[in-house]
Amino acid sequence: MKKKDKLYSVIIISDATSTNKEFTISSKLIKKVLISGFLLLFIFGFIIFDYLSISFNKEKMRNLNTDNKKKEKTIGELSSKMEELSISLKKMTDYKERILIASGLKSPLALKEVGSGGGSITDLNTLKSTTDNISINKQSNNNILDKAHKLARNAKKVENTLKYVNNVIDLQKVRLASTPSIWPTKGYLTDGFGWRTHPFTGKRNFHYGQDIATQLGNDIVATADGFVLVVEHQNALGNLIVIDHGFGFTTRYGHLASFNVKEGDRVKRGQVIGYVGNTGRSTAPHLHYEVRAFGKTQNPLNYIID
Ligand SMILES: [Zn+2]
Repeated sequence: MKKKDKLYSVIIISDATSTNKEFTISSKLIKKVLISGFLLLFIFGFIIFDYLSISFNKEKMRNLNTDNKKKEKTIGELSSKMEELSISLKKMTDYKERILIASGLKSPLALKEVGSGGGSITDLNTLKSTTDNISINKQSNNNILDKAHKLARNAKKVENTLKYVNNVIDLQKVRLASTPSIWPTKGYLTDGFGWRTHPFTGKRNFHYGQDIATQLGNDIVATADGFVLVVEHQNALGNLIVIDHGFGFTTRYGHLASFNVKEGDRVKRGQVIGYVGNTGRSTAPHLHYEVRAFGKTQNPLNYIID
């Protein structure tokens, strides 16, 4: 059964001079007006909500964009820093190789391979171009990270080699300090190392040292760091000092007038150990100087570098 449509009367009462007005509205019409009103309100609300959310997202996008630009800039800076680092590392690798070769730790033939250890420039150019036109993505991030790891690994390798070279150089420093290398006294060279006619016997014999003729009482210095092994008087060499330098080296200083050290003393290169004399089998004041390597006599002149 159809529900009966209710009718409502609306009377508008004006002032006394006019007539009153009366409308009749059906309940159906009221419903329609109400529903349309709600619908309009809903649509309007939706539009406002949509608009707000769009502007909110827009703002978010803007922020993201700024963020991305900042990140791009940082990555760009990072990559150029890494390029600088890689170039320094390449130079360091180069120096490392040269030091290895100079210190006799590597064959000069290896020089051709120099640069193989560091991050190569080509790699870096690839890296730069990848980072230059980025939209920030995982791949380029990983790429930079990979390069950074590679750089760090190469730097570590160079560091380790340099540490090793440093140790070797330290050892060589000790060795160099222990190698006879300076004049034991100032004077002029008389009899050298080799065969000669002995001034006393007139016979040919082998002279194991270098004679340096000079003034009586001149300083005699140790030609390398070491320990005083012998301080004694011998018939042939007169007052004699023997210094042990380690690494197989000993030096002998003969015909001294007097000593300035005693057995067991530690001496440095250049330290005064005694004074030129004419003791033992000697015809005039001079120093008899010997260098021995592992017990074998050497020509002392081959060891004097200053
Ligand atoms: Zn001599």
